[in-house]
Amino acid sequence: MKIDIHSHFFPRIAQHEAAKLCPQRAPWLHVEGRSGQIMVGDKPFRPVDDVLWDAARRIDYLDEKGVDVQVMCATPVMFGYEQPIERALPWTQRMNDRAIEMTQAAPQRLKVLAQVPLQDRDAACREASRAKVCGHVGVQIGNHVAERDLDHDDLVAFLAHCAHENIPVLVHPWDMMRDGRMKKWMLPWLVAMPAETQLGILSLILSGAFERLPATLRLCFAHGGGGFAFLLGRADNAWRHRDIVREDCPHLPSSYVTRFHVDSAVFDPRALRLLVDVMGADRVMLGSDAPFPLGEQDIGAGVHGHAALTAADKQRICADNARAFFAI
Ligand SMILES: [Zn+2]
Repeated sequence: MKIDIHSHFFPRIAQHEAAKLCPQRAPWLHVEGRSGQIMVGDKPFRPVDDVLWDAARRIDYLDEKGVDVQVMCATPVMFGYEQPIERALPWTQRMNDRAIEMTQAAPQRLKVLAQVPLQDRDAACREASRAKVCGHVGVQIGNHVAERDLDHDDLVAFLAHCAHENIPVLVHPWDMMRDGRMKKWMLPWLVAMPAETQLGILSLILSGAFERLPATLRLCFAHGGGGFAFLLGRADNAWRHRDIVREDCPHLPSSYVTRFHVDSAVFDPRALRLLVDVMGADRVMLGSDAPFPLGEQDIGAGVHGHAALTAADKQRICADNARAFFAI
């Protein structure tokens, strides 16, 4: 059994539909046969193919990759957090409804996470609850809304709402540093994305937010938690030796690893081994980041083919943890 908990979709949004959110900044899909281009306003954003939007093609793709169930979520460019809520809410609801439509082809195999208008706390809570009723198995959020990180009161309140409503949350890095030093070689994806995730996790830990959030919150960070596992010793050391690091956080940073999950998308057996050592085999879930080029092309091979993980650990990572986390 293979359940992939981190993959993306992008519905066939026409330019005129996107313009209702924002003519310059909203994403839409330019389709030519089985290929396409995600556009942002008039600018090409990313070349893609129909696995991203066509449910039948997606099922063929899952068969080809030997994946039994795939959890899909919005491509982060769809979030719309920078837009006024009057336009962002109908956009978000439309994207969520399109996501559910895509699952209709094979509801047992295609699952979706909702997006929410995270710029507005109350609207985000209401949409998360609405989406749960519509059949979404959880929500995906970006790791920040402009200057508000995960430890901001609004975002903590949203996470608490999800805990109380029993809605799992996947945190995906987005809106990364892209200034002049990040222009080439996909550096925002290679450097800034893992840093965004690290920032999200540490802002929850060091702010003491986990002390205020219910322990029942089901929270998962994408891309193996960014640099978290590798840098945890650094955070613990800083907490021990600098009072300004521990002023809001009563316990060692490493004591909070029991409060969240991560996916397995780290692309190196040594990194995966460290990740499983740090997080525990019950808090790592198979996540591919499919169907994008920066995702795991042979979905699950890094876990299945791992020389040091036990068969029981592989079973947990590839299916059992996800089944419990998303109740699927
Ligand atoms: Zn992703």
